[in-house]
Amino acid sequence: MVATVNENFDLIQNNYLFVEIARRVDEFQKQNPDVDLIKMGIGDVTRPLSKTVVKAFKDAVDEMGNADTFRGYGPEQGYDFLIEKIIENDYEPLGVELKNSEVFISDGAKCDTGNFQELFSQDNIIAVTDPVYPVYVDSNVMAGRSGKPQEDGFYENIVYLPATAENDFIPELPKEDVDIIYLCYPNNPTGTTLTYDQLKQWVDYAKENDALILFDAAYEAFIKSDDVPHSIYEIEGAKDVAIEFKSYSKVAGFTGTRCAYCVVPEEVTIKNSKGEDVQLTPLWNRRQSTKFNGVSYPVQKAAEAIYTPEGKKEIQEDLDYYVKNAQLIRQSLEDLGLDVYGGVDSPYIWVKTPNGIDSWEFFDILLNDANVVSTPGAGFGPSGEGYIRLTAFNTYEKTKEAMERIAQLEF
Ligand code: PLP
Repeated sequence: MVATVNENFDLIQNNYLFVEIARRVDEFQKQNPDVDLIKMGIGDVTRPLSKTVVKAFKDAVDEMGNADTFRGYGPEQGYDFLIEKIIENDYEPLGVELKNSEVFISDGAKCDTGNFQELFSQDNIIAVTDPVYPVYVDSNVMAGRSGKPQEDGFYENIVYLPATAENDFIPELPKEDVDIIYLCYPNNPTGTTLTYDQLKQWVDYAKENDALILFDAAYEAFIKSDDVPHSIYEIEGAKDVAIEFKSYSKVAGFTGTRCAYCVVPEEVTIKNSKGEDVQLTPLWNRRQSTKFNGVSYPVQKAAEAIYTPEGKKEIQEDLDYYVKNAQLIRQSLEDLGLDVYGGVDSPYIWVKTPNGIDSWEFFDILLNDANVVSTPGAGFGPSGEGYIRLTAFNTYEKTKEAMERIAQLEF
């Protein structure tokens, strides 16, 4: 017997976007070892964990080092102490009631949004907005749900919903019959949002068409505008049709610490092979219990500390810091006459490339001539062509310097 590759992997296009960016950046740095690059590409944060979070993290590590307080395997779904804080702080103030059994703690929204498709049959049709966070598409390609990639970059069995300046980044509802819709708001990569009314249209559509919404709210903490919902469950009826994914990565600097959660309401059902309704909550529980052994106790204690009054205050200071960067980027690029989107309720700024040049070309110009690393929009899907994404996660000083360097360029 010879082990053979899952042939779906042959269908994945290019390298994973950030791998290709890292390759180009490495090559540039090898050739220009003395150049100080400013990284505004990958969405990784720079502010350290807050004091209160670090203390809770350390105290929990001490508990693990003491025979009386040591803990082994925890509940796969997460400790109740964290789940209760989530319900109390992230949902009750919005008027959303949840049971502990509907909240699942995990080590990342990437894993959750990538893994969730395992619950669906192979022939389900998925819809994604375009441009899109690549994990939604690639995880479905690996699972064999995408069909083959076409010359235009689209997979034959995936429904794409373009979001561009032409439609104000509000994708049209699918015309095709789709089963699962991935939505991400505030959006990565465009930094744009949907209002209550706009999101309601999606919930209504899902209810009328028996579709399921996988709602990625990883950037919810950046929402400032009053007309933008903080959870899809603020929309009437959403608990029947939507799963919500949240992450501590960007809100509290947990990109390296790893903690997130998803909400799977008991009301959400899909059909089994006999055409009967089955709840997703026990299915996801079964999947997680089989393949996941929970997030470490100290990490969950660190996440719990985010919900203390001091934790909340410290985290808000970090969020405000990034918001200030986003405002600076928006303003500076607008002053240069560029078309700029996002960056208001989001740490991402989506910039139209000047003079219609393509997005990898603009990426290379920014890298070579301004020594600033961006992310080319084309890497997020065909409708991302003609844009680049900048992030507000660097330091204020570096962000300012990057803007000064870009201002020197001639477009
Ligand atoms: N979802 C979106 C839309 C993201 O942009 C990211 C990270 O960049 C994630 C999920 C991943 O979050 P986590 O760090 O919790 O895995």
